Amino acid sequence: MTTARISTDQDTADRIARASAGDAPAYVYDLPALDAHATAVRRALPGIELYYAVKANPDPELLRVLEPHVNGFEVSSGGEHAHVSALSPDKPLALGGPGKTDAELLLPAHRLHVESPNELRRLLATGRDADVLLRVSPDLPVEGAALTMSGPFGMDDDGVRACLPLFDDRVRLRGRHYHLASGLNADQLLKLAETLLSTDPGEVNLGGGMAVDYQDPAARFDWPAYGTGLARLRTPGQTIRVEPGRSLTAYCGYYVTKVVDVKRVRGEAYAIVLGGTHHLRTPVTKGHDQPFTVLPTGAGPGVTDEPVTVVGQLCTPKDVFARAVTTSIRVGDTVVFAMSGAYAWNISHHDFLMHPKPTFHYLSR
Ligand SMILES: *Cc1c(COP(=O)(O)O)cnc(C)c1O
Repeated sequence: MTTARISTDQDTADRIARASAGDAPAYVYDLPALDAHATAVRRALPGIELYYAVKANPDPELLRVLEPHVNGFEVSSGGEHAHVSALSPDKPLALGGPGKTDAELLLPAHRLHVESPNELRRLLATGRDADVLLRVSPDLPVEGAALTMSGPFGMDDDGVRACLPLFDDRVRLRGRHYHLASGLNADQLLKLAETLLSTDPGEVNLGGGMAVDYQDPAARFDWPAYGTGLARLRTPGQTIRVEPGRSLTAYCGYYVTKVVDVKRVRGEAYAIVLGGTHHLRTPVTKGHDQPFTVLPTGAGPGVTDEPVTVVGQLCTPKDVFARAVTTSIRVGDTVVFAMSGAYAWNISHHDFLMHPKPTFHYLSR
């Protein structure tokens, strides 16, 4: 386990903590920062369609900020479809996800991502019109990925071969959809794109999976390199689409809380904060230390400049935000966890132990 960096400078952490209006725990979203980031990503991808993968964070305020920057939204369930359709009725939707029900297969969508030959047969049986991308899992080595989407996702060559004769003029094959892994840098994604784009002259959705480095909150995926590389690989008339999630919204979210206890057990120092990983599950699912900044608002007992493990209020040893991070911290201090904007609140098990839920705050210009 590497050591979490002290994440944000004190001024930013101060600004974020002030936005929480004294509530702890609280989520704070920096909407102008999200707007600036999305502007930069959009600018780096000329001629490439950009969709946001809503499952990373479906918060309506975030979707409203992202809407003008994206060509569409990728949704993976009837629930996400209803949520986004209500907020952005005119925005194109791509509907994906394994195990779609017949009701989901009937939902209006700019593109339907079909995951299997049987799903395609059920789609045909509905009698609807649809523009389809086949989700393909090619047998390609994906080195250095944080998570490889092997197993039930998409189809192999046999699956694709079974689908091809089934299309007609009502259910039309538009191209292919790939989402092979997450946590890839621009070079790794371009290497994959080179292979995938050369085998398909039609429309290609290259998925998401752009790396987010939780050890280095200042680092960003190299969007200009990715955009330039994709523009070079694109053949005339080819539609290329990407659908990032984490790399768009991770940076704009913060989880703000307060230290309730500092203790030492068999020599190890622990800081216990209000809330826990039932509000911010990301460090548990990813197995990392969540980057944080301590604001010295407390006057209680504490430790100075030594390794501290920061935990929440859950009665489980898994409720750990960060392990043995050298810091000074005392009871009453404010802890601002950065990089909490994606796969954070919305993937967490909120009701476990029935603690109060965080409040939500939005920084605007
Ligand atoms: C989750 C997912 C994404 C987004 O992945 P990130 O790693 O958040 O960029 C994109 N496409 C599909 C099909 C997904 O399942």
